[in-house]
Amino acid sequence: MKQEYDVIIIGSGPAGLAAAIYTGRAQHRTLILEGAVLGGNVAITDQIDNYPGFSFGISGDELIENMWRQAQRFGAELKYEQVLQLEDMGTGKKIVTAGSEYLAKAVIVAVGAKRKKMGLAKEEDFMGRGVSYCATCDGAFFKDAPVAVVGGGETAFKEALYLAGIAAQVYLIHRRDEFRASKTSVDRLLKEPNIIVKTDKIVKELRGGDMLNAIVLEDVKTQETETINAEGLFVSVGMVAAGEFLENLLDNEGGYLKTSSDQMLETSMKGVFAAGDIRSKNVRQIATAVGDGAIAGMSVSEYLKQL
Ligand SMILES: Cc1cc2nc3c(=O)[nH]c(=O)nc-3n(C[C@H](O)[C@H](O)[C@H](O)COP(=O)(O)OP(=O)(O)OC[C@H]3O[C@@H](n4cnc5c(N)ncnc54)[C@H](O)[C@@H]3O)c2cc1C
Repeated sequence: MKQEYDVIIIGSGPAGLAAAIYTGRAQHRTLILEGAVLGGNVAITDQIDNYPGFSFGISGDELIENMWRQAQRFGAELKYEQVLQLEDMGTGKKIVTAGSEYLAKAVIVAVGAKRKKMGLAKEEDFMGRGVSYCATCDGAFFKDAPVAVVGGGETAFKEALYLAGIAAQVYLIHRRDEFRASKTSVDRLLKEPNIIVKTDKIVKELRGGDMLNAIVLEDVKTQETETINAEGLFVSVGMVAAGEFLENLLDNEGGYLKTSSDQMLETSMKGVFAAGDIRSKNVRQIATAVGDGAIAGMSVSEYLKQL
């Protein structure tokens, strides 16, 4: 028998949890479906310094734990199931996971974004054998070893700074000679004695046997190559939208969902709303994800009133 809810929220990152606080508090029967770990990208963030309300920052774990307890207080349920399919049944929506089917009057898609791969030969072979997409998840495996981070944005800098406290040596590899990361992060990183910055370089080749042990870099201007010893390579070259199962169903731009207006956040399917990083928008941060979650939650209330 299909289980029925007023609203099903897909994804338990900050957008999904904020939405659940609003729909739960409005007394709509709310289910969150999460395919991996509670908290999305926040759960894998060591320290968050720019989310308002925490003057000395807060760890990702603690922030998520608080958001989840708050959603739970208003009656939200959580199940660890990956959503595979969403189907429009008119006023109701069917959601299919590996083991169950659910019916909801409204759906909020909050599936976020995930790390982009470099697209290198052997990248997949070395995954879990040196190549990682998350320093806070895997950094501890590289205690006192040489590692590299590839990327030039805020996330790459955070990863490198985090790893500097664990690894013997951290190489930061970036294909340009200027960075997208904030000045604060750049200044902090340049002061770290065990971080070596390699600009104008791309990763050309991954080397090793069972485990990664070296990386070949190529200079983008001179095409000269050099090999550095690295047992870990942390890839931070951008993000891609996570909702593959929605791509041919909802209007999107490169996988990022288009929404009706900043006041409603409804997708191209009536009764299906989107919140957080999965939305086509410019700023992808916890504060904006939470703002989206609040709007989508309130839009669901309006939508349910009209049914
Ligand atoms: C390393 C790193 C550090 C960051 N640091 C900061 C920072 O300091 N400050 C800041 O403001 N922002 C930071 N960000 C950005 C911030 O984490 C994101 O903007 C925010 O998490 C977006 O929230 P979200 O809920 O939209 O998506 P996410 O946090 O990505 O959560 C989406 C959730 O949906 C789940 N999901 C995906 N597909 C499915 C499916 N088919 N079925 C069920 N569940 C699914 C995922 O498993 C995930 O749990 C950082 C991001 C990264 C990667």
